[in-house]
Amino acid sequence: MARSLQVQADVPVTVVSCDCEQDKKKKMLANTNIKLIPCECGGHKTLAKMVADVLAN
Ligand SMILES: [Zn+2]
Repeated sequence: MARSLQVQADVPVTVVSCDCEQDKKKKMLANTNIKLIPCECGGHKTLAKMVADVLAN
C-alpha cells in the first residue's frame, strides 16, 4: 500500500468527502497529493469506497 501511495503522490487526485472521519481521511492522505474536498454528509459510504479504491490502485 505504501508503494502505491508513492506512485499516487505524483498524480493530483481530488476526493470529495463528507466530514465524517475527516481527520482519519486526512491522515490517510497526508503523504499523497490527494486532496479532500468536504461536502455535505449523505453518500459518505460510497465516497469512503471511492477513497479506498483510489488508495488500492
Ligand atoms: Zn458523513
